[in-house]
Amino acid sequence: MSTRNNEDRFGSFESDAAPAASTTQTQTNPLEFATPTDMVELPSKGKFYPEGHTLHNAESVELRYMTAKDEDILVNRSLIKKGVVLDRLLQSVLVNKKINIDDLLIGDKNAMLVSARITGYGSDYATRVPCPSCGTVSDHVFDLEEALEASNASQGDTTLAEQTERGTFLITLPKTGVSVEVRPLTGKDEKAILKTNTMRQKNKMPELGLTDQMKMYIVSVNGEEDGAVISNLVDNMPAIDSRHLRTSYSEAIPSVDLAQHFECPECSYEQEMEVPFTSEFFWPKR
Ligand SMILES: [Zn+2]
Repeated sequence: MSTRNNEDRFGSFESDAAPAASTTQTQTNPLEFATPTDMVELPSKGKFYPEGHTLHNAESVELRYMTAKDEDILVNRSLIKKGVVLDRLLQSVLVNKKINIDDLLIGDKNAMLVSARITGYGSDYATRVPCPSCGTVSDHVFDLEEALEASNASQGDTTLAEQTERGTFLITLPKTGVSVEVRPLTGKDEKAILKTNTMRQKNKMPELGLTDQMKMYIVSVNGEEDGAVISNLVDNMPAIDSRHLRTSYSEAIPSVDLAQHFECPECSYEQEMEVPFTSEFFWPKR
C-alpha cells in the first residue's frame, strides 16, 4: 500500500527519469539466463474456444521449458495430494498467464503436458510394459515426440460426427435414430470428475461410470437441452447406441492419442500400443 502511494506521489518524477532507465535495461546482463520456449500445436487448433478467448482459433501455444523450479512443483506433496500438481506445472510453464487451465480442452491440456515432459526430460520415455499376448513384462522406450506428431497428424478426420457452429458435434445414434449433440470436456470438467470420484471413494462408492461421463458431455438430445431428457436417454440407451456414441465421440473430439509400435522380445507379438501414463511419466527413474 505504501509503495503504491509513493509511486503516485513521485509519478511525474519517475516518468522524467524513465528514458535513462530503459537504456540501461537494453544492455544484456551476462548473468541473466532466459529460459527457452517452445510452440506447442493444439489438437483443437483453437476451434472450440469462444470468440474473444485468448485461444480462439489459435493453432499453437507458447510454453517455457521446464526448469529446476518446476521440478519443485512436481515433488510438492500437498499439490500431489490435492491432485492439482500437473495443473500447477502447466500454469507455471505457460508464457501467456491470461490462459486459465480450467478453460483448456482436455486434449489441448494433454498435448501441453506431453510437450513439457519432452522439454524437461527428453523425448525418450522408458517404462515397463506387459505384453498383451504372453504377459511378459519388458522394458520399452517410447518416443514421445514421434507419438505426438502422429497424434497431431490424425486429428480432425472424423466421418461419424458433424461439427456445429458453436463448437459441438452432432452424432446420430444408429438404433434409436436420436440426434445427440456433444461437447469436448475441459480442465474444469476434469477437476469436477476428480472431486466427485474422491468423494465417492471416501464413501466407498464406485467411481463415475460411462453413463455419468456421457451426461457430462451431452449438450442436447434432438435439440432438447433439458437435463432430465438427457439423463433419460442415457439411462435407457440400447448398448449398440451407447457404443456408437462413445466411438464417435472419441473420434471427433480433439485429443492426444499416443500410440506407438510395440514388439515383445519374448514372443515377438507386435501391435500398436498406447503409451502408458504411469507415475514415471513426469518422475522418470534415473
Ligand atoms: Zn509376448
